[in-house]
Amino acid sequence: MRLRLNKIIDMPGSEAKFDYALNISDLEFDGAASMPETLDVTGKVRNIAGMLVMTAHAVGKMTCVCARCLEEFPRDIDLNIEAVLAEELQDEDDPDVFLLDGDYVDLDEVIITHLVLNMEQKLLCSENCKGLCEKCGKNLNDGPCDCRPDIDPRLSVLQQLLDND
Ligand SMILES: [Zn+2]
Ligand SMILES: [Zn+2]
Repeated sequence: MRLRLNKIIDMPGSEAKFDYALNISDLEFDGAASMPETLDVTGKVRNIAGMLVMTAHAVGKMTCVCARCLEEFPRDIDLNIEAVLAEELQDEDDPDVFLLDGDYVDLDEVIITHLVLNMEQKLLCSENCKGLCEKCGKNLNDGPCDCRPDIDPRLSVLQQLLDND
């Protein structure tokens, strides 16, 4: 959604509120998570002594795929966003400053940028997830498999030395 800020852009102390459903069904995270159709977004842009500050709250539910055991699990999206909206960028790399388009702000861009930056590199169903057995592929969270552990490589070197005798 594009929000017009003409009423607050020159009015310190004023604010513009927003409340909408952001469609993110096109977002993909390489199969690591599937996004809901929409995020519920509420927030406002305030003019604080001439600076435009956007605060927003975005909520929804996504389905993740555990990086270790490959099981799907649900996770809440609950993002608190704060961004400065500026007519020009001082520092191109500052992730918290967004460019105005005339007297409009592209709310979707700000929220999706934060959503992507906040995605964890590795989504795990639990910190203690045991993952899959490398040999038989069994999900070790369901119990141990029958594979024998590999021989410690230091021991196998020792074994070779003994064999060569
Ligand atoms: Zn897992
Ligand atoms: Zn196994």
